[in-house]
Amino acid sequence: LVREKAGVHEFEVEEPQIVDEHDVLVRVKRVGLDGTDFQMLRYDKKDIAVNEQGIVLGHEMVGVVEDVGSGVSTLKKGDYVTMTIRRGCGRCRPCGGNQSDMCMTGLYTERGIHKTHGFLTERVVDREKYILKVPKNIVKYAVLTEPLSIAEKATEMVRFIQRRMPWGCAHPDHAPDTPLWGGCKTSLVIGGGSLGFLATCLLRLSGARTYVAEIVEADNIKVQLLKALGAAHVDVRGREPEDVVEYCCRESHLDMILEASGASEFALRLIPHMARSSVYILMGIPPGEYRREIDANRLLRQIVRYNQVVMGSVNSNRRHFEMALADMPRINSTFDDILDGMFTHKFKFSEWAEAFKVSDPNQMKITVEMD
Ligand SMILES: [Zn+2]
Ligand SMILES: [Zn+2]
Repeated sequence: LVREKAGVHEFEVEEPQIVDEHDVLVRVKRVGLDGTDFQMLRYDKKDIAVNEQGIVLGHEMVGVVEDVGSGVSTLKKGDYVTMTIRRGCGRCRPCGGNQSDMCMTGLYTERGIHKTHGFLTERVVDREKYILKVPKNIVKYAVLTEPLSIAEKATEMVRFIQRRMPWGCAHPDHAPDTPLWGGCKTSLVIGGGSLGFLATCLLRLSGARTYVAEIVEADNIKVQLLKALGAAHVDVRGREPEDVVEYCCRESHLDMILEASGASEFALRLIPHMARSSVYILMGIPPGEYRREIDANRLLRQIVRYNQVVMGSVNSNRRHFEMALADMPRINSTFDDILDGMFTHKFKFSEWAEAFKVSDPNQMKITVEMD
């Protein structure tokens, strides 16, 4: 995105160089596009650093190490890698403790989103601490590490909060800090795009009964992929939010709602229908503005009386990337290589402009192959 110009453009940036002993030079191999990229483009939302003419898009990547500084110990030339996107403010304690996703000043930058170049470029340099080695056997889908890390953080937040009621069911192996924590629990995911789908992968891996609200036809690829996960598609077209919740609660209590669409009207109208002691976690970021009248007293009364939690979750830190790298092979081995089926639109680097024109109801992950 270039200052004072609409649309996407090709422009030159300085060749990245190793300047610090902890720097790693990476050749970008593949970049994934997601809703944030398209929102930035559609709403002409450009957070360009003051000394730059533009911002390079792309925050989901896999690449290969070309060179390392003398102080780098965990990575070497030829390693496949992926990178976190947020760079801490350098002032607050969370950023100092490698938890810049919880930054308290807001003075962070984000590669490809906020004041720092992203990955739709031949090479990038960054510090070793932001770069994770990708095992060879998962290189082909490692571009999903970043979006999966967002889902890892959100589901971790749900588990963290629900430690307040460890007696949710009678099974010790369904406790919030165990791999099968979703057992005996029911979840509703709003939106079956790549983030909603990856969140559903984690919920199904944990054993949770999972419903996914979508506005697509039954033969859509999203529905096919959800079926392969053993999740239930709920067509929300023409359905009121209360009907959707009632449908998901036929067999059990609705323990958690994960919002991954950014469709604020539906998301907001669901809150009055949350179950007692349940958690509603918001990951989708609605663009623009939407106004609605609500009965505030009734809403707050309900949240208090029912011990409900409505919370937001944005970005992720290195630990969530590590969780994502560990879970990707588990997802693929449990659900018959399902992640491979997410790559619906592949473009060459020379076709980058075409990648930004995709508007297909059957789209999951758009990738640009940088080689
Ligand atoms: Zn900070
Ligand atoms: Zn149980």
